[in-house]
Amino acid sequence: MSEIHGFAVHAAGAHLLAYKYDPGELQTHEVEIKISHCGVCHSDVHLIDNDWGISKYPFIPGHEIVGTVVGVGSGVKDRTMGERVGVGWQADSCGICEWCRQGQEHLCAKSQPTCVGRNGGFADRVRVNSRFAVPIPTAIESENAAPLMCGGITVYAPLMNYGVRPSSRVGVIGIGGLGHLGVQFAKAFGAEVTAFSTSKDKEAEAKELGAHEFVNTRDTGALKKVAGSFDFLLSTVSADQDWQAYVSALRPKGTFCIVGASPSPLQIQGASLIHSQKAIAGSNTGSPHELSEMLNVAARHGIKAVTEKFAMAKANDAVTKVKKNQVRYRAVLTN
Ligand code: NAP
Ligand code: ZN
Repeated sequence: MSEIHGFAVHAAGAHLLAYKYDPGELQTHEVEIKISHCGVCHSDVHLIDNDWGISKYPFIPGHEIVGTVVGVGSGVKDRTMGERVGVGWQADSCGICEWCRQGQEHLCAKSQPTCVGRNGGFADRVRVNSRFAVPIPTAIESENAAPLMCGGITVYAPLMNYGVRPSSRVGVIGIGGLGHLGVQFAKAFGAEVTAFSTSKDKEAEAKELGAHEFVNTRDTGALKKVAGSFDFLLSTVSADQDWQAYVSALRPKGTFCIVGASPSPLQIQGASLIHSQKAIAGSNTGSPHELSEMLNVAARHGIKAVTEKFAMAKANDAVTKVKKNQVRYRAVLTN
């Protein structure tokens, strides 16, 4: 196979530069995918800036990939040439640990992220273990499907795994790439949905996407007014926040789930969890099985990422716009 061309970052915070690499022989368990679309997740920005101390330079970011299978390893039985597939945060796992055997591959200790120690989707092609290339339902356009591969699964899995149901009162905090999908999925689960946002100008769109209520978190006292209101709060924000106020906004037995990691440790009074039996939780993307399930739910309920398209060669512009919180609501690079 020929060289793969993409855009790589060579040092923390640097601009993306044209980059090519030789992927070598296609491994027996791998597929090669010709990329049509790749979303720009805020995790790509964290990796570019080495916020988590795990970035390995140079690397090509991108883990919300949609494309067509153009190469199939000799041992691959689950994918075929020409199939349209998506790839998310994960490109491989050990396949034999208790978590992989349970179909919870995202919890595997040897999980390989698509663009950490490997090259991701800001490129013309990518290779992954075939188990992590998930077929895309025909009802979803590739441009709308790409953001579901990380943003979509990251909000769908906690709603499902923490038992959100039609009677639930759900709050989604941060209406960005993840959050605007979180509002749509929470509505599809039948919940009463509140959007929490620092951007007043997102109110009308959040309501169109399915939010029943909108809380402007820049308003002093806004969180106090909703004390004791929610069964489930999902925070997609990666900045420090008034955690205690969000715990107070939970109803008894409510769960506050974080998917966006803040830079500082969470400060929460233990007593505020004990009295009303509240829980703090986290959630990490999802397994290939959950990805398929999520895509089918999105197809059935018409859940769509709202996207801003950029040519692949304009990846730097997209990253800059994500950093400024100016994208409505997910930047998608196209080849
Ligand atoms: P994004 O598109 O940039 O959206 C984040 C949203 O957070 C913004 O649109 C904004 O919403 C809000 N926000 C930004 N700065 C804020 C601040 N200083 N205070 C309060 N709110 C602020 O990012 P994303 O792609 O949705 O990703 C969000 C986070 O989730 C990132 O940290 C990412 O790494 C993480 N993530 C985690 C997983 C996982 O598996 N757990 C998977 C994917 C991503 P408003 O304008 O509405 O306030
Ligand atoms: Zn992501």
